[in-house]
Amino acid sequence: RSGAEQFAFQAEVSRLMDIIINSLYSNKDIFLRELISNASDALDKIRFLSLTDKAQLGEGEAANLDIKIWLDAASRTLNIRDRGIGMTKDDLVKNLGTIAKSGTSAFLEQMQKGGDMNLIGQFGVGFYSVYLVADYVEVVSKHNDDKQYIWASTADGSFSISEDTENEPLGRGTLIKIHLKEEAQEYANEAKLKELVQRYSEFINFPIYLQAEKEVEVPVEEEAEEAKEEDKAEAEAEEEEEEEEGAEDDEEETKEEAEKLKATRKEKRMEWELLNDNKAIWLRKPSEVTEEEYQKFYKAVSKDYSDALAYTHFRAEGDVEFRSILYIPSFSPYDFYDKYYEKAQNGLKLYVRRVFISDDMKELIPRYLSFVKGIVDSDTLPLNVSREMLQQEAALKTIKKKVVRKVLDLIKKMAETEVKCKDMDEKGETEGKPSEKDCGQYGKFWEQFGRSIKLGIIEDTTHRNRLAKLLRVYTSKSGDKLTTLDEYVSRMKEGQKSIYYLAGASKEEVASSPHLERLLRKGYEVIYFTDVLDEYVMGHLLDYDDKKFVNASKDDLKLSDKDEVEKKKDKELKEEFKDLTKWWKKVIEDSRLQTVKVSNRLATTPCVVVSGKYGQSANMERIMRAQAF
Ligand code: ADP
Ligand code: MG
Repeated sequence: RSGAEQFAFQAEVSRLMDIIINSLYSNKDIFLRELISNASDALDKIRFLSLTDKAQLGEGEAANLDIKIWLDAASRTLNIRDRGIGMTKDDLVKNLGTIAKSGTSAFLEQMQKGGDMNLIGQFGVGFYSVYLVADYVEVVSKHNDDKQYIWASTADGSFSISEDTENEPLGRGTLIKIHLKEEAQEYANEAKLKELVQRYSEFINFPIYLQAEKEVEVPVEEEAEEAKEEDKAEAEAEEEEEEEEGAEDDEEETKEEAEKLKATRKEKRMEWELLNDNKAIWLRKPSEVTEEEYQKFYKAVSKDYSDALAYTHFRAEGDVEFRSILYIPSFSPYDFYDKYYEKAQNGLKLYVRRVFISDDMKELIPRYLSFVKGIVDSDTLPLNVSREMLQQEAALKTIKKKVVRKVLDLIKKMAETEVKCKDMDEKGETEGKPSEKDCGQYGKFWEQFGRSIKLGIIEDTTHRNRLAKLLRVYTSKSGDKLTTLDEYVSRMKEGQKSIYYLAGASKEEVASSPHLERLLRKGYEVIYFTDVLDEYVMGHLLDYDDKKFVNASKDDLKLSDKDEVEKKKDKELKEEFKDLTKWWKKVIEDSRLQTVKVSNRLATTPCVVVSGKYGQSANMERIMRAQAF
């Protein structure tokens, strides 16, 4: 185009596009889902803006918040247009090419490791998937604050932007013109597009139309009027008849049909066909929504392409009314625990009276549960206030409380099912046993989100005890199976007052530690902590079921109250080795060494270095040094 400005893609983006355009990935369908998802996001944005500034929406056509898809034979393009917020020239430059999203390099890495292209949306680079099917793409966009522009690229490392003088004015929104590759011509097919939209985008909350050739019956001109009259007379006669006999006559119906056909003729026309039923699924009664529909909605709302692990759909009544569907994903996102405290929490979408407001509301769910996806739709919250004002709403606190309870209940249910299954297995019972899938659910959850439970213990004092019940640990008695604290407590020896644990880099390292010797000799069970988070957690979780947690590597390890004889013996031993301990302290000559003393914590190992009661444990030091967390 004359006068077009040329831009180079940011290097990583360019590499990403290279991989995509040359990809042999067979499931190219995903591009449509990504583009519709972007259209839907853009529509959400303009609808939200219009809440406080009605004029943003425009009038007439522009106010129809919909998505339209059509094939254009002349230009051999597949077109997708939305009446969303659109992009200014600056947006086009930044969003589609010059600024790499944080997920770009992570996605590149995944792709090099043979990762699944399907996950592209989760990495925030879904737009580029259009190059799975296109060798040339034009993005025409009009934002209220700017003129209409065309972004265009053949994915050759650069793109161009020019003011649009060739297309019809969009009013507002974005039109994506996809020039399909030779080997992607299967998408130049309305039936295929229809199938894809229905499969992937059924729960998009805006109407999606496809322009398709449709066979319509049109009345044949001269006969039309007559036929109408006849129809009317017949219908009246029929009504009378039915009243009398209360039954229909099938044979006669068919005859009538045939007569009607005579009066019409078939014609092919292009019509806009609505492809999705965009009624909010959360407004329906849970009993009327199928498992499949919940899972489909999950995918629409989460950018995830696996089924959710578990979900709950409820309606809260009372002072604050809202409806909600909350999902626990099957897998934690690739970077979920990286930069944990800095990240946006965008799993849960807030709606007010069916209008999308925000998906980054930390007022809605605590950070440690931010893996939860889904929606909250409230009738109580005010609709036309700024986001800042909304965040102050007291109702949000009530909603948050309830959301936390519901999520914890959902997790608890999985955990209890797991324990039940284990018990039944041990007893060899089978009657009424939950399904294999239900039995294994909590194990999967723990593997993916166990750290969130630990973070919860650190962050959420209110639910600390409930969360502690959800902990799963390895111990000196658990072998390669995880065990619960309740199970630990039930196995405690007579006279054992505390719950013992030891932390280290690996199970093997902990298991062979001399710190354990006497505990194990006494038959006491010791929890093996190997996650960097564990000792932080223990800094917050001081006891469980009235039993104190005791770190086996600390100086004050007391195994039981000693009797008089033992105490006397201890004293004698201390006297006997006084010179040795003194000498030793002098020889080592290290300011980090507090003291050398005789102790009875060991059984066979002659000596051990331990941490002071108030000092950092060796394991904690290892962690701090590695700055792993
Ligand atoms: P994501 O949707 O995760 O942000 P994408 O690669 O799909 O990542 O899109 C990149 C960005 O381009 C979006 O964040 C948005 O700002 C912009 N964008 C893409 N499609 C549209 C559209 N149809 N309307 C407005 N903006 C869009
Ligand atoms: Mg996207």
